[in-house]
Amino acid sequence: MLREFTCICCPNGCTMEAVVEDGVLTKIAGNLCKRGRTYVEQELIAPTRTISTSVRVDDGELPLVSVRLTAPIPRERIFDAMAEIRKQRLTAPVVTGQVIIKDVLGMQSDVIATKTVRKAEP
Ligand code: SF4
Repeated sequence: MLREFTCICCPNGCTMEAVVEDGVLTKIAGNLCKRGRTYVEQELIAPTRTISTSVRVDDGELPLVSVRLTAPIPRERIFDAMAEIRKQRLTAPVVTGQVIIKDVLGMQSDVIATKTVRKAEP
């Protein structure tokens, strides 16, 4: 069976055509590097995704801070993780790299800030 995948490992976003037989990748085209093949193989076994979103910040120079996961999580748990992230409400200052949620839902991935939000000037 011929299937199409878009690699999300880098901004190139290669579109790949993959021949999959009995769940096994037998041929691939369109990937610019070997990470594309690895991505497709992972997608066939246990698809994962990452999250980039934002969290509310009180008393900050900005009302939101951008956050992301430190490692991909199973695709079927994305909505659960988003629900946990939405519960968060921070108070400035928040610094880049600050852990917002450690080991979210026990999935060995932290939610970290990707921006610094200083405390608002009075
Ligand atoms: S196959 Fe390689 S070059 Fe293409 S999107 Fe994936 S990582 Fe980037």
